Parts: sequence; structure tokens; C-alpha cells
Amino acid sequence: MKIIKYHSLFILLITNNFYAFSYSDLAAWEQFIQTRYVSQEKEKDDFRDFENNASQQVKEFYRLNHRYQTVNFVLKKKEEYGALQKKRLSIWEAFHYLDTLVDESDPDLSLPQSYHALQTAEALRNDGQPRWLILTGFIHDLGKILTLFGEPQWAVVGDTFPVGCAYANAVAFHDYFNDNPDKQNDLYQTKYGIYKPGCGLRNVHMSWGHDEYLYYVAKNYLPAPAAYIIRYHSFYAAHSDGAYTYLMDDYDKEMLAWVRLFNKYDLYSKSSQQLDIQELYPYYAALVAEYFPDIINW
Ligand code: FE
Ligand code: FE
Repeated sequence: MKIIKYHSLFILLITNNFYAFSYSDLAAWEQFIQTRYVSQEKEKDDFRDFENNASQQVKEFYRLNHRYQTVNFVLKKKEEYGALQKKRLSIWEAFHYLDTLVDESDPDLSLPQSYHALQTAEALRNDGQPRWLILTGFIHDLGKILTLFGEPQWAVVGDTFPVGCAYANAVAFHDYFNDNPDKQNDLYQTKYGIYKPGCGLRNVHMSWGHDEYLYYVAKNYLPAPAAYIIRYHSFYAAHSDGAYTYLMDDYDKEMLAWVRLFNKYDLYSKSSQQLDIQELYPYYAALVAEYFPDIINW
């Protein structure tokens, strides 16, 4: 009943084409991440066990992601999406658009994507976090509308990693990088690759996905730490495993503390916690309006 009410809030007067997409692979990846990182007491070796025991769906996801996320691919996508000429949408229309993604893997339990947004944001709000951080929680996954622009799932979700330099061992399913053409590029396989030591992540090309895309869309409207969180929230090798510090500068080290804080809310708020959506709506409407104009470029 709650969910039906919730949908009714998001079904706005929108004339966009309405698709019913399969969302099952994205959900499977998120479940995997949940299992891998929520078990914080686990040793690194156990993470490899998680990989060995992962479903075929998750393995196949990572196989494709690690095979096709090349320097060339990333540069091409940055050029294509960096122009922000795909659509003009309000934040609320983007939520609605995203909610057309249906998780077919679990029809009884499928929640709209925006439910995770609201749970993350409410968890931050309950802890008295600043308004900009609550907003960050609310919008952080909106970049997944890349799926609706026809991007394959391996180019939308998944943990992100730098391209153009050696792949750190901490990146999940590291062995699948053997099939990446960049693996044959000697320069790309050195520690620093095409980058300078300590150059700062802003000068590093990350694998393409919903983080980088939403960063482009939202960065001009948000405080710097909010934009940073959005850009690197899937960079698990760095924020959860401490890898790639040799590419970071002092700014990154300062900002990663925000990403780590945020990640707790992103991962741990996925529960069946009941939310009174109708009661919450005015708060989020005001919060979004505080930072964003009615319509933005996507
Ligand atoms: Fe995300
Ligand atoms: Fe999330």
C-alpha cells in the first residue's frame, strides 16, 4: 500500500516514452556489493570467496565490465554524455524515468529505485546530517537513467576503477581484466600509467557509469563535497579498500572521508523500513528546490 502511494507521487505529468526495462542485473550487482562490503570484519581473502561464490549473473556482469571499460570507451562516453544534450528533465522527472526500471528478478519485492534514494536520505536525515548531504543521498543514483538511454548495464553500475593505469588488486574480479585490450598496452599497465603521481582523482579517468554521469549533470548545483561523493561513491577499491592512494592529492584524502561516511548510508539503509511517503514529500520537494532549478540538462 505504501508503495502504491509512493508511486502515485512520482507519476507526474510526463510525456516521456515509458519503458519497462529489466533491472535484474543491476539489482544482482547491488546485492553482491552489499554482501561483499557490509561484512566489514571479513578478511580480504573472504572477498575472493564472495567472488567465487557469486552468481553467474554477477560474474557475467563483471566479465563484461572489465572487458569493455577501456580508455577509449571511457573517453567516448565522456564526450557523448558530457555535453548534457540527452534530455531536459527536472529531478522529479528523472526519478520517474528511473522508476520505469523494473526489477524482474523479484516481482514480489521489487521497489522502485527511488525507494532506495529515499531510504538513504532518510537515514542521513535521522542522524542529523547536513541538508546538502541528505540531498546527496536522495539523488546519488539518478545517473542510472543511463540505462534508459540504451547503455548496457556494465556501463551504468558496478564498482568503478581508474583506466589508463595498472588495475589495483583490490578491484573486484581482478582476473577479468586479462580480457581488456588495455591490458596489452604497456604504458597503461604501469603503476601510474598515463597519470602523474599524486595528480588528484580529478585528473584520472574512471570507468564509465552512473557516478561520473550524474557528477556532470549535478556538479554546478551542489557543494563540492556533494559533487565529489556522487562522482566516487562506487569507487570501492579506494573508499573501502584503501587502494590508489598514489593517484590522490590532499583534496581527495579530505573528500574521501565524506565518501566513506556516505557509503555507510548507501549500503546499510537498504531495508524494509517503512516510510510514510506522503508525509515526506514536502520536505524533499523543498530540499530539491533549494539547490536545483526546475529543469536541468541531462
Ligand atoms: Fe550508486
Ligand atoms: Fe545507492
